[in-house]
Parts: sequence; structure tokens; C-alpha cells
Amino acid sequence: MNLMNISKRIMRGGIEPVPVVVAAGDGIGPEIMEATLSILEAAGASLDLVPIEIGESVYKQGYSSGISPESWEHIRERKVILKGPITTPQGGGVKSLNVTLRKTLGLYANVRPCIAYDPYIPVRHPHLDVVIIRENEEDLYAGIEHRQTDQVFQCLKLITRPGCERIVRFAFEYALRRKRKKVTCFVKDNIMKLTDGLFKKVFYEISAEYPDLKADSMIVDIGMARLANAPELFDVIVLPNLYGDILSDIAAELSGSVGLAPSANIGENYAMFEAIHGSAPDIAGQNIANPSGLLLSAVKMLAYIGQGQVAERIHSAWMVTIEDGIHTADMYRSGTSQHKAGTQEFAKAVIERLGQNPSHLRRVTYAGDAMPRISPSRLPKASKNLIGIDVFIHDADSTPDELADLLKRSQTDRLQLVMITNRGVKVWPDGFPETFTTDHWRCRFQAGSDDQTVTHAEIIELLNALHHHNIDFIKTEHLYTFDGVPGFSLGQGQ
Ligand code: NAD
Repeated sequence: MNLMNISKRIMRGGIEPVPVVVAAGDGIGPEIMEATLSILEAAGASLDLVPIEIGESVYKQGYSSGISPESWEHIRERKVILKGPITTPQGGGVKSLNVTLRKTLGLYANVRPCIAYDPYIPVRHPHLDVVIIRENEEDLYAGIEHRQTDQVFQCLKLITRPGCERIVRFAFEYALRRKRKKVTCFVKDNIMKLTDGLFKKVFYEISAEYPDLKADSMIVDIGMARLANAPELFDVIVLPNLYGDILSDIAAELSGSVGLAPSANIGENYAMFEAIHGSAPDIAGQNIANPSGLLLSAVKMLAYIGQGQVAERIHSAWMVTIEDGIHTADMYRSGTSQHKAGTQEFAKAVIERLGQNPSHLRRVTYAGDAMPRISPSRLPKASKNLIGIDVFIHDADSTPDELADLLKRSQTDRLQLVMITNRGVKVWPDGFPETFTTDHWRCRFQAGSDDQTVTHAEIIELLNALHHHNIDFIKTEHLYTFDGVPGFSLGQGQ
């Protein structure tokens, strides 16, 4: 799409146009954006569109984040973004713009409704109607990765209490406003007891404040399997970032096409609306892409900025189009679809149906904004006690027993070697000879029993001794208790 066309576009739907930043994006982005904007305009939206260029072309100009400083300024001023998909260049040196936007703007909640439009788009589960609320800033998407040895690479999974509180509260508030009945939390707390365990703990703490909503939790693997097999068991699902990313693609695909699902990224001060799919380079430029995901995202945006009536009008016309069997190729099913429409033709069909209401599909109302705004909470500090240190060591040659002998030469009066693990499995003392080991060892030093406090000076003394004995330590993690509770995991087998 010609960006100049967008820049000239002020949609005057009868009220003061609301400034919105528009980024067409890459691949199919310009085609579906053009289709979407034509519907918004015809429906009577009042928007003052400010176009920005992001994605591939901007990466190529040398901006490793995929966005220029001027575009950031536009976003900071307008605060609401309608965004097409972008192609993330492969390889090092560049960062995903999507992740950068979400994190820089504090868009902590990613709301992804997935609904079946059966029988118009026949699907395996005609009663699919779930809203996935994905934490959007934390988890493995902190993007903190390190190569530590020849063999070992690490990605840090960060989960914070304020982050959990915010997304969980958001999910319950959203469920209330949208008159949903149940909120389910997916985690893997049987393995990640501290990080995912925190998410679940906070989930149940906050659920107690919402007695009218049912609350339950599932281990993420069985939860995803159940959703794929029996989605009617679920209503609103709240989950950490990576699981949410995976689950929403599964749910979108179950709804008939990945091209159907919208999403809203909500923060305290900013909001960004985009389809969940990518730039679909395989079909770009062919005028066959489904604009529905972006259009329904724009509908959510209209509700967010107080133009709920226009949002309803568009959503209804879109449903009539679906009921009339006018479908893009990805939704087209011979037997039930009536006409295979191209991207712009589909948009025209929606425009022609503005003012009509669906006969069977359930109408959506946008009276008031369904998106809660939740401020981060401030938490009281715990009593924190330093009781030891995990020293990570690069050593490709030693056996566990040999390494333990080496390390014992460095241990101090205060800090004694108590355990060595390799890839999380205890290999000393009393390891199994069958356990496969790499060149990356976690060596735990503690001062006697669990609650004996040590000082930073004593830690430095230990590290100095390791240095003196030519031990190649590549990272350390302090071992703390918080209000007497250990803030670290045991070794598997410990
Ligand atoms: P994709 O979603 O672009 O495509 C997956 C499949 O779905 C393809 O067969 C595609 O043709 C089809 N598809 C997607 N959207 C469609 C639509 N609207 N209508 C009809 N068919 C559609 O996923 P991908 O191929 O893994 O990723 C392509 C690029 O998009 C990558 O560079 C990826 O990083 C990027 N991406 C961007 C976003 C975003 O900007 N939010 C999200 C996901 C992926």
C-alpha cells in the first residue's frame, strides 16, 4: 500500500478524529491494512491516521530494532497503534520488533479471542469460544541469552510477582466485563516450581477476590492437549508468555484459520492492535490473504478508543459476510462456502453489509471498553538471607569426582562444596555413572545448614580461591532464603 494514501487519511465519522499510528508492515501487511482501513472508513470511524514505516525496510536502513526514532516519537505522542505483521529477519544482530514494541511500551497483556464460526466455516469443534490472555513481557521473551561454554547455551526465564499479579488480575477483570464464567491458568509448575509456581500461586491468591468466577489450573501440556480435543471445557485462559504464544496459534487454527484471529496488546498507557498471524510471505502480493484478523483487531481498537458503536457495526457486517459464505481462500470450504473472495473483494463485501446483523452467529456488543487497566502493585520486602553460592564451571575434562576433588582445594572455612549438578542432575556426591554430562557444571557451596548466613566478602574469598586454582568459573548465582524459604531449586536427585 502507498503510505502516502494513509497519511492523507483523516476519517471523519462525526466525532473528533482520534489519532492512531498505523503501520502496514511487511508481506501481506499492506494488502490487509488497505482492506481494513477501507472498512473502517465506510463504517464511520473517526480516526486521524499517522502512518509509520516499520519492519524489513527499516531493518535494511540499518535500524537493528526495525523502527526509527521518528516513529517512536509518533507512537509516544498518539499511544494507540494499529499494526500489520512484520517479517523478522533471521540471524543475529537484529531484535524482534514485535517483542521490542510490546516490552518498551509496557504492553503487558495480550488478549487473543478464538471463536468457531461453524457451520459457515466448518471446524472440528463448533463450540470453540475461548479468550487467551497471554503475559506479554516476561518469561523467556526477556531475550537474555548467553553462551557459557563450548557446549552450553542459556536463555533466562524471568517471572516477576508484579508481572504475574498484573496479568492475572487483568484476566479476571476481563472475564467479569465480558461476562465470562471461568478463568483457567496453564503452567508447568511441577517442573519450574519457583517461576511457574509463582504464577500459579498468584493466580489462586487473586482468584479469591473474584468469587463469582470459577478458577482452575492445569499443567500446560495436558491443558493444551485438552484444548485441542475439547475446547468447550475452557472459557478464559491466562498463561505465561511462551505457552500463550503457542496456545493461541493452536486455538486460532482450531477456529478455522490462523488468518481469523485478532489480538490486542494492552498496557497502562499504550495499546497496540494486530492480527496474530505473521507476514505470510508465501501469499504476499497476491490479493488472497484474509484481512479478518487485522480487521477484528481494528474492531477491538475502536472499542478501546470509545467508538464501540462503529466496532459493533463492523463486527456484525463481518459476521453477515461469513454467514453469506463469502470467504477468502484460507476459510473457503467447498460445500459450505459460496464464493472465494480476494482480499479487497472480501472488504467490499463487508462494506456492502454494513448496517446488517447476523442471523445465527452471536452478535458482539462493545458497550464500554472491555480492556481493564491495571497498575503494577508494590510489594513489601521479604527478609533476605545469603546462605551460599552456585558457581558454574566450564570443564570438559574432569569426571564429577575429579572436579569435586579440585573444588575442595578451593573451599573455604565458611563455604563448603555440597553438591555438583550437570544439566540440573546431581552427579556428586553419589551420582550415577550413566548420567550424560557436558562441560558445564553447577557447583553449590554452602555454609553448613540451610539458614547459616554468609557474607559477600566470604563469597569473594571463595571466588578468589577458585581463581587461584585456575578453575574456569563462568557465572555465579547467589543462594538466598526469603523469609526463611529457599529461593533456589534443588538438584534433580538431591
Ligand atoms: P505466518 O502466520 O506468516 O504464516 C503461516 C501460514 O499461515 C502460511 O501458510 C500463511 O500463508 C498462512 N497465513 C497467515 N496469515 C494469513 C492470512 N491472513 N490469510 C491467509 N493465510 C494466512 O507465519 P510464518 O510463516 O511462520 O512467519 C512469517 C513471518 O512473519 C516471519 O518472519 C515471522 O517472524 C513473522 N511473524 C510476525 C508476526 C507479527 O508481526 N505479529 C507474528 C508471527 C510471525
